Amino acid sequence: MKIQRLKKRLSGDHKFTGHTILGSMCTEPHRVAKRTYKHFLSTNVGDPGLFPNLIELEKEYISELGSLLSNDDAKGMVVSGGSEANILALWTARTLAKEYQRDVIVSETCHFSFDKAANLLGLNLIKIPADSNHKIRLDLVKKAISDNTMALVGIAGTTGSGVMDPIEELSKIAVEKDIYLHVDAAFGGFIFPFIKDSAPFDFRLEGVKSITMDPHKMGRSVIQAGCIIYRNKKVLDAVQIPVTYLSGGHTKNNSILGTRSGASIAAAWMVYNYLGIEGYQKGADKVMALTKWFTNEIKKMPLMTTIVEPECNVVGITTSGKIDIKEILAELRERGWAVSEWKDYIRITVMPHVKKSYLKKFMKDLNKILDS
Ligand code: PLP
Repeated sequence: MKIQRLKKRLSGDHKFTGHTILGSMCTEPHRVAKRTYKHFLSTNVGDPGLFPNLIELEKEYISELGSLLSNDDAKGMVVSGGSEANILALWTARTLAKEYQRDVIVSETCHFSFDKAANLLGLNLIKIPADSNHKIRLDLVKKAISDNTMALVGIAGTTGSGVMDPIEELSKIAVEKDIYLHVDAAFGGFIFPFIKDSAPFDFRLEGVKSITMDPHKMGRSVIQAGCIIYRNKKVLDAVQIPVTYLSGGHTKNNSILGTRSGASIAAAWMVYNYLGIEGYQKGADKVMALTKWFTNEIKKMPLMTTIVEPECNVVGITTSGKIDIKEILAELRERGWAVSEWKDYIRITVMPHVKKSYLKKFMKDLNKILDS
């Protein structure tokens, strides 16, 4: 089949290079990441003996991210995404916990990967209500802790509104009670370090044992790419499955997947080193300036408001009057907009592919819908 025919067949799908996707946490990968990915399509770090240089590159990348997260001892892996990283973190925490400890305390705002992890690992997920700023309620966290607590989870950049849980306080609790603390920074990991005056969420906090952060979200790399970063080798080595049959020789596997893309590692490493801290800083400044502008424009609209003050490039918008946000959402979708639906608001993610002209077009349509 000719590639043109296939392209034509798929041409009706949304594209990150178009103006319609305003509700995704992924984006068009940086050109350097795309170019690099193509060169290493057939590499599989699930057979590490075959690709020792790629394994070294992965270690280097994780070490670089560790430094960004204030920890030169960090160890970890590039995995398929935030879901796999979160499942791995809880698997690790379960391995380190006592056999009867199966409770995981997390905000009700958590990503659904925690439901999957609990289901797969036989854990009891205790979902703590969030306050009016969408952050986990610490008073209720303290009440929920018992001898059965296996892990606490803090979220740096919630899926719904992009805010950060009070991770500094969660860390204090984790240290005091000797509980594993995982931070889900799948979204926030590549943006909060570049936002001035953001609260700490990384390994500076003594209680933090592992962090999820995704190159395929704000990391500007290709899909699939997530990272699980552990405080040190001891935590990394908690989960290890021996494998003896691989053509590269014996190994100990500590990921969920067997075959694992080396191309994802190469692309993520390349874009990180190409952009550097300065490049990510520039990118963050750009999306945050646009987020601020968009937030102000929404607040100027008589019938619209934002749900919380954005802490990163995620904006929840809703109606301040009697108009049903679901009706507005349906009409926006009819007009081709790919926005994200939440209980009583719409989430807009101001990703690197989003331009001011797209947001203007979106608000023009929103105004038309409100006027009709
Ligand atoms: N954690 C958070 C906070 C997320 O927002 C997401 C996805 O949006 C995930 C985890 C899961 O990431 P993935 O879709 O890469 O599995």
